Amino acid sequence: MTVLEPQTSFEVSNKGFYGSFGGAFIPEMLYPNVEELRRNYLAIMGDPAFQAELQALLTDYVGRPTPLFLAERLSNQVGATVYLKREDLCHTGAHKVNNTVGQILIAKRLNKQRIVAETGAGQHGVATATVCALMGLECIVYMGSIDMKRQQPNVDRMRMLGATVVPATSGSQTLKDATNEAMRHWINNPVDTHYIIGSVVGPHPYPDMVARFQSVISEEIKTQLLAKTGRENPDYVVACVGGGSNAAGAFFHYLHEPSVRLVAAEAAGLGVLSGHSAATTALGKPGVLHGSRTILMQTDDGQVTEPYSISAGLDYPGIGPLHAHLFNSGRGDFYAITDDEAIQAGFQLSKLEGIIPAIETAHALAALPKMNMKPSDVAVVCLSGRGDKDLAIYSKYL
Ligand SMILES: *Cc1c(COP(=O)(O)O)cnc(C)c1O
Repeated sequence: MTVLEPQTSFEVSNKGFYGSFGGAFIPEMLYPNVEELRRNYLAIMGDPAFQAELQALLTDYVGRPTPLFLAERLSNQVGATVYLKREDLCHTGAHKVNNTVGQILIAKRLNKQRIVAETGAGQHGVATATVCALMGLECIVYMGSIDMKRQQPNVDRMRMLGATVVPATSGSQTLKDATNEAMRHWINNPVDTHYIIGSVVGPHPYPDMVARFQSVISEEIKTQLLAKTGRENPDYVVACVGGGSNAAGAFFHYLHEPSVRLVAAEAAGLGVLSGHSAATTALGKPGVLHGSRTILMQTDDGQVTEPYSISAGLDYPGIGPLHAHLFNSGRGDFYAITDDEAIQAGFQLSKLEGIIPAIETAHALAALPKMNMKPSDVAVVCLSGRGDKDLAIYSKYL
């Protein structure tokens, strides 16, 4: 993986900003931890020995490079050439492990003995517990007690991997409360604990660090597309956005290629205006969420609105600051995809290509027919995860 130097306005600034979004809006108690990470992450990631260890794990443990697959039957249906970047074939079934593998190596370089993480549906918790088992580090995952009931299989997975799952019993007993309690744990254990955030959100340097770890996705797309088509740039790169880590990884090496349109699919839930939605750019306004200035869904007096999506991974009231900047600057095209559109796209891919996508991923697929592509256009869709975890939901539509 190459670590890019800042080049243009789509790179993070020294203070952690993408345009007017980003930064580190954190309580003073958290400052030493975040500052230790900020001072060290680029030097650690730039160290050849670190890169060698990371590359070996990405190859032999995660299973990279993941294939770039020409989806012929889907292409015929859509009326343009569609390639799928198969992150669903990563170990643990999604892209999240690209980030947790990287961050656990950072934690080791910082001499941390314990990992703390938050999880909503449990996907990031499982990816974190996985790499902690691999490295023999203690793992504590905070999870809302309501989410623990809703996502029992992931709780069992984390426990089987040796993690301690701590129920967050405050507030609405979901992701935001788990985040608060994990932060509190980190504040109280600054010396020996590293906090692994699961997306391109949180205070600087997290959004940039996570984007760099996920950037292996677009690095591989460039090489693979060149080998298959003679050009490394498609016309479109398409990804779903919850916090935005798979999208950031798929976009990263195309941020400065204006001929490549960057397409983000957000979850519209029951409809953008239904009151049950997670379509952040359609509904949100600038504000501070989880340590960075971004776009988030909020009431007129600034209370964070409870999001809704059929897909647990997209059920988040904000987006990472890079995506807020892509939206604000017009560099990215944002589509709001309803639950029903996503479910239909999930069935379509299953029947046309024999690939059952995660419902998160199905949102990206559902954007394809809305993009007015020409027959000569080439689109790469980031197939962020596999759909096995979602069968109980899909089966209601069978
Ligand atoms: C968690 C998850 C997402 C959403 O997270 P991002 O940070 O936006 O990528 C998307 N797809 C899958 C399969 C996930 O597990």
